[in-house]
Amino acid sequence: MVKEVLFGVGEENPYGEFFTGKSYLNMLTTDSVVVANVTFEPGCRNNWHIHHAEKGGGQILLATDGEGWYQEEGKPAQKLTPGSVVEIPAGVKHWHGAAKDSQFTHIAIEVPAVNGSNEWLEPVSDEEYNKL
Ligand code: MN
Repeated sequence: MVKEVLFGVGEENPYGEFFTGKSYLNMLTTDSVVVANVTFEPGCRNNWHIHHAEKGGGQILLATDGEGWYQEEGKPAQKLTPGSVVEIPAGVKHWHGAAKDSQFTHIAIEVPAVNGSNEWLEPVSDEEYNKL
């Protein structure tokens, strides 16, 4: 279980198969721009993934609670704390999630895209994650 957060924890994440550990999803808006509040239990992270788009697309993360990580393939992981902003371009392989010892929440904004889709890839291994 997780503590309640700004914008609400919501429901157990229906995309949980693409995560290591437990996370929660609260859809905030779905009509014009898709905005969701995502809360990760300590140690939880999503698989490596790519937000694809023919035009536009990508994702913006706004960290609001706890400590987490964002990593692009081939680059060092960046620590996220409340107020951190991450702009993820379409086509870039990456993952995001909580720190080992902290519940973590970010708002995720789907940048409007032409033919946008998500490609879910391999999990972030314990070996990679535990180095952080
Ligand atoms: Mn992402």
